[in-house]
Amino acid sequence: MGFEIKRFQGDVDEELICPICSGVLEDPLQAPTCEHAFCSACIREWISRQPTCPVDRQAVTSSQLRPVPRILRNLLSRLCTSCDNAPHGCSAVLKLDSLQSHLLECK
Ligand SMILES: [Zn+2]
Ligand SMILES: [Zn+2]
Ligand SMILES: [Zn+2]
Repeated sequence: MGFEIKRFQGDVDEELICPICSGVLEDPLQAPTCEHAFCSACIREWISRQPTCPVDRQAVTSSQLRPVPRILRNLLSRLCTSCDNAPHGCSAVLKLDSLQSHLLECK
């Protein structure tokens, strides 16, 4: 599952949204021909039920999924998000690529 959009500061680009969970892409993979991008967990679960792209129904198998271009990963890593523990009082705002390391330290 992706990240909840409401955790992010400002607008999130449509290309960075997973069409399956409607969240911000987490660990994204893309389909080989149409290049639609999804969270890896979302698209793997989808393909286990039907081997198609959820957006345009093109045939896709899990072995054909490939990493998204670096530019897309860069855009994702620059998004600013609140901490997972914000409901428990953490007020940190982090770039997505530093969230994991913050969560290791955040109580
Ligand atoms: Zn997703
Ligand atoms: Zn597609
Ligand atoms: Zn925190």
